Amino acid sequence: MFMKFIENVPLAQYTTFKIGGPARFFCSVSDEKQLVEAVKFAKKKKLPIFILGGGSNVLVSDNGFSGLVIRNEMRGMGGAGSGNIIASAAGENWDDLVKYTVEHNLCGLENLSAIPGTVGAAPVQNIGAYGVDVSSVIKLVRALDTKEMKFVEFGNKECQFEYRDSLFKKEKGRYIITAVSFELTVGGKPNISYRDLREYFAGRQSHGSEPKTEKISLFNPLNWFHARNDKADLVVRKYEPSIADVRDAIIEIRANKLPDWKHWGTAGSYFKNPVVSREKYIDLKGKYPELSAFEYGEKMKIHIAWIIENVCKMKGLMAGNVGVYDKQALVLVAKPGAVASEIVSLANNIMKCVKEKTGIELESEVQWVN
Ligand SMILES: Cc1cc2nc3c(=O)[nH]c(=O)nc-3n(C[C@H](O)[C@H](O)[C@H](O)COP(=O)(O)OP(=O)(O)OC[C@H]3O[C@@H](n4cnc5c(N)ncnc54)[C@H](O)[C@@H]3O)c2cc1C
Repeated sequence: MFMKFIENVPLAQYTTFKIGGPARFFCSVSDEKQLVEAVKFAKKKKLPIFILGGGSNVLVSDNGFSGLVIRNEMRGMGGAGSGNIIASAAGENWDDLVKYTVEHNLCGLENLSAIPGTVGAAPVQNIGAYGVDVSSVIKLVRALDTKEMKFVEFGNKECQFEYRDSLFKKEKGRYIITAVSFELTVGGKPNISYRDLREYFAGRQSHGSEPKTEKISLFNPLNWFHARNDKADLVVRKYEPSIADVRDAIIEIRANKLPDWKHWGTAGSYFKNPVVSREKYIDLKGKYPELSAFEYGEKMKIHIAWIIENVCKMKGLMAGNVGVYDKQALVLVAKPGAVASEIVSLANNIMKCVKEKTGIELESEVQWVN
């Protein structure tokens, strides 16, 4: 099919921040052949390429992007081989895929319900929520290597997944993902270890199952820290909800906690939760006893929203057309008319305060496009 490369397309309409200037050239691709054609067009004109999915993790500069923006609209999903493997084209809506897996009683993606964006972007920043990172279930990623101009497939290990990071982010722009497959568990047991989920299910009976209780060990120093500040944590209630229950719970929790991006401009959490050594966490805990964190391998991932809210006192703060969301301090929001420079300036102020109070350099989770 004949491809159209449109000039000077405003990008704000393609992002959930609803901010940003125009793309020099813009096209949509619905299959791998069109993708190759688009990349060849950019190479011939010596233009940089930016691959756009749902635009829910980007902040586009007010000056726009001086290259070719390729919008991924590749569709299609379904079983691939054995019953627990699902494959999806990169342009599919992420939450449609999660819904599909839950409807087919495949466990693994339900905690990632209601995250905006496309399937192709999920491996890029190794999306995660409610105690689950997508890297735990990704089997294969298929991509166009724009340097070698050939299609390649990466197994899970080769993707070099880390917290909100991967090979695709490290080698920025080199790989354009066209499909992803996931290895799920038929009828598996969902992960409800995350505090919000434990609290949600506390006191509820799910599918008639009886709640069980478990005592946590106070010999683990981290448990001791948590217990010292929250006696209720001494006894952890355990429930056995279905994966559909977990999906419903997450949709409800997220609706109460996150701004509706169809009305507000936002890209969700603007900053990554910092991962620090255990010593650093214990040190911070001494200074801020209410600060919490959870184990991340050998290290600790800190709930930095607590610092932004309680130490920097910036939760709910509005600065012109932009602000810190009043229900979740990691989330920045924008009113109609906001510009990218306002978001950058607010983000810099938050980073400055967090650095002063904790010594931690916050990293942006959102991709800057210019
Ligand atoms: C309200 C809200 C809540 C959110 N909650 C979460 C959350 O809980 N957890 C979480 O992890 N994220 C969350 N996000 C961030 C975002 O939804 C995810 O990062 C999502 O995966 C981005 O998908 P996208 O298609 O919109 O990517 P885009 O924003 O379009 O692109 C993001 C990056 O991925 C690259 N990219 C996109 N598609 C491809 C491709 N096919 N090949 C190669 N590179 C590609 C882009 O070039 C860009 O660098 C949230 C965002 C919003 C607005």
